[in-house]
Amino acid sequence: MPEFNIDKIRAAFPILSREIGNKPLVYLDSGATAQKPKAVIDRLTHFYEFENANIHRGVHYLSMNATTEYDEARETIAKAIGAPKVEEVIFTRGATESVNLVSNGLSETLVEGDEIVLTLMEHHANFVPWQILAEKKGLTLKFANVTDTGEIDMEHWKSLFSSKTKLATFTHVSNALGTINPVKEMTAFAKDKSDALVLIDGAQAVPHGKVNISDLGCDFYVFSGHKVFGPDGIGILWGRGELLNAFQPFQSGGDMIEHVSVSGTTFRQIPERFEAGTPNISGAIGLAAAFDYMENEVGWEAAEAHEQSILKYATERLSEIEGLHIRGTAPDKVGVISFTMDSAHPHDIGTILDTCGVAIRAGHHCAQPLMEHYKIAGTARASLAFYNNREDIDALITGLEKVQRFFG
Ligand code: PMP
Repeated sequence: MPEFNIDKIRAAFPILSREIGNKPLVYLDSGATAQKPKAVIDRLTHFYEFENANIHRGVHYLSMNATTEYDEARETIAKAIGAPKVEEVIFTRGATESVNLVSNGLSETLVEGDEIVLTLMEHHANFVPWQILAEKKGLTLKFANVTDTGEIDMEHWKSLFSSKTKLATFTHVSNALGTINPVKEMTAFAKDKSDALVLIDGAQAVPHGKVNISDLGCDFYVFSGHKVFGPDGIGILWGRGELLNAFQPFQSGGDMIEHVSVSGTTFRQIPERFEAGTPNISGAIGLAAAFDYMENEVGWEAAEAHEQSILKYATERLSEIEGLHIRGTAPDKVGVISFTMDSAHPHDIGTILDTCGVAIRAGHHCAQPLMEHYKIAGTARASLAFYNNREDIDALITGLEKVQRFFG
């Protein structure tokens, strides 16, 4: 493994050397989507230049080769996330589709009066599918409060469990606050107290450090490829095989069938059961390339340590700005800094920073219930990845000084 060298790392991300309006790009929006290293871009280009073919049932070389590459991508990802069985790794369109797949599967078994425990810090992707299911089936949703520091109020969360709790679902890392939740302990509690199924939304966790799914004890774990330096339109649902194979298919068509006749159709087991139609072949291969890059070229530990050092620097510098309030100050955080300013609306902050070449996000971050809880319309959010450096933070500070001059 090469030593972690931030200049070399940045050089591996071509987009980081471009300019926006004659200013060097300062990309602080990795929480929305991460930039892609050349290794991933080259892998996609190579696939389309030399390897493109549809998978499965092909009798020609390219098809068989693409099938092997697709299968190997699943193996690489299974190994990278510590999935106990390769076939339990399902390729989806992203975290959103993965949650929808599970909510669709559970709609067969959950009955009126059953309860689901959630938290107020969920992204809409892990909120709305459950709300729709609850309305359809007469389920009760219970939401854990969030503290002033942006952590789940554990006493409150624990008090929500009962003998009727069938599912507990929570985010591993909050996209709006950066908080890392104690998901292993939470999973153990949900199992112990209510024997509930547990779904963890890992969309914001996987890009910030190595996740070992086997170690967490959960039943389902979801994330998106585009946030973990891979392509968009590809994501993962990991789930326990016996649960997934008991679900009705989410979509039907080619590849997921065992046998079709006019009198009826039988379905395959996982993973094909949930991969109807031509999948995102290049996306799967590109996502495996992203994990390979992180494992072999960067190193998760070094990436995490670097990101944490930039987060610390950024937190210190932002805290010096008068009238700026950081939302989410949990001791255990990834590189997400959400903030409000007395002098300016989050959208104005974002717009002025854009004139400085600094890309951040402003708004409710698809976490409206959380914003309601804090009684704010939204925040400005700078979100980091391991490719950010101190100069990025200095540019952010210079931009925020401009915001203050403009509105202060
Ligand atoms: N969960 C969390 C915590 C997220 O931050 C996001 C994306 N912002 C999602 C789920 C949904 O991911 P996608 O839009 O890629 O499906």
